[in-house]
Amino acid sequence: MHEHASARQALEQMIRSGDLEGLLRQAEALHGHRCPFLALGVKAGQYALMQLQHHHQHHEHEHEHGHGHGHEHQHGFGEVVAVVEGCNCFIDGIQLVTGCTLGNNGLLVKDLGKAAVTVARKQSGAAVRLAVRGDFRAGMFARYPAVEPLFEKVMVQKQGTEEDRHRFQHLWEAIARRELEVPLEEQFKIETLTIPVPDTARSMGTLVCSRCGEGVLATKAKVKNGQNLCLACAGEAYFLVSGRGVERVTE
Ligand SMILES: [Zn+2]
Ligand SMILES: [Zn+2]
Repeated sequence: MHEHASARQALEQMIRSGDLEGLLRQAEALHGHRCPFLALGVKAGQYALMQLQHHHQHHEHEHEHGHGHGHEHQHGFGEVVAVVEGCNCFIDGIQLVTGCTLGNNGLLVKDLGKAAVTVARKQSGAAVRLAVRGDFRAGMFARYPAVEPLFEKVMVQKQGTEEDRHRFQHLWEAIARRELEVPLEEQFKIETLTIPVPDTARSMGTLVCSRCGEGVLATKAKVKNGQNLCLACAGEAYFLVSGRGVERVTE
């Protein structure tokens, strides 16, 4: 856990000092571009960690470095999980700042198609939920009227010339940076709450699929005619997580 902690030190320093610009730059490296909802994710993640940290220091006396299940998410802000409510640009800001990712078991996707997150301390369930306000989009377009027709053309209709796309990208990046300075309460509905922390303990047992010979999580394998098969070989439905959300699909 100590290498993990030190690898995140620079980020944690930015979180503590409120260096949203620096965090947005890091998030951009992960996300591939700079956009307003990425900036919102960065702000929400930074705010939530600072709030929970405050709560932790003043109201809790938990054992910070207890031995967990080996590969769990833990850093200088204590062990937290993030429950995001959709698959969108917003969640990359959340993943980068909170360090809660799909890969490290720290991220849960509650697929409501919203830009919202609940960050919770794993041991106590003390949590902060931030949901992008329903009037955010309209307000943003009102603040930057030049971008709305371009957004419509480039992002919604998937049309527009190379120049339109270029101008849109340029404006979109500028807006992302400017939105860092807008007061949080104008962008988010914020609530503090306590949640029952979901059990994210990962099942580790694996089997080998009799058809493709690939290793597969035992809880995902299907037994057919006495053989263990992965869902792909068994032709069974599985869950696909994509930008559209979480869907049950069959190959
Ligand atoms: Zn984006
Ligand atoms: Zn297989």
